[in-house]
Amino acid sequence: MKFHRDKSKGLDRFLEKIMKKYYRNDPIHFAKVLYCFWIGEKKSPEGNDVLGFARILTPRERDIFGYDFLIAIDKKHWRKSKFIDRVRLAIHEIRHCIVVVDEETGEPKEDKDGRIKIKIRPHEISLNLFLYEVKKCGLSDGERKVVKSLLKADRSFRKRR
Ligand SMILES: [Zn+2]
Repeated sequence: MKFHRDKSKGLDRFLEKIMKKYYRNDPIHFAKVLYCFWIGEKKSPEGNDVLGFARILTPRERDIFGYDFLIAIDKKHWRKSKFIDRVRLAIHEIRHCIVVVDEETGEPKEDKDGRIKIKIRPHEISLNLFLYEVKKCGLSDGERKVVKSLLKADRSFRKRR
C-alpha cells in the first residue's frame, strides 16, 4: 500500500464540500483533516475490502504537521465509484471523526498540552450474520431492532429525494 495526496486537490475539494453540506453545525470544523488516497489492496480483519478509513494522527504528528485527523480513500475504488457512493463514503469517514466540545460553551475541550480533544466514533451498526442462521432462526430481537432502524433511516432518505 502506498499513500499520496491528490495533487489535483479534487479529493480535498470533494470532502470539504461534503463537510460543508452535511456537517454544517458539527464541531468537526474545529479540526484540521488531511485527505489522501492509497493505492493497493486493504482488507478488514474479516477479509472484506476496505474502501476508506479515518484515524487520529499521533500527538507528535498533529503538532508538526498541523492536522488532527487523516481520512484515506482507496484510489482505485474512488475512481470507479458513482457520485452517490462517493458521497456515502465521504459522509461515512467524516462521521468517524469527533471533536469533543464543552456542552455549555460549544468550544472544543483541550488535552493537557492545549490540543483540541478528538476521538474516533465507532460504527453504530454491525450485523455479523449468516443468511443461513437467519433462515433457520430469524433475527434476534436486537438484530430486528437494528434492521428496523436501518429501514426507517432508508425510508426517510428515499422520501426526501
Ligand atoms: Zn467506518
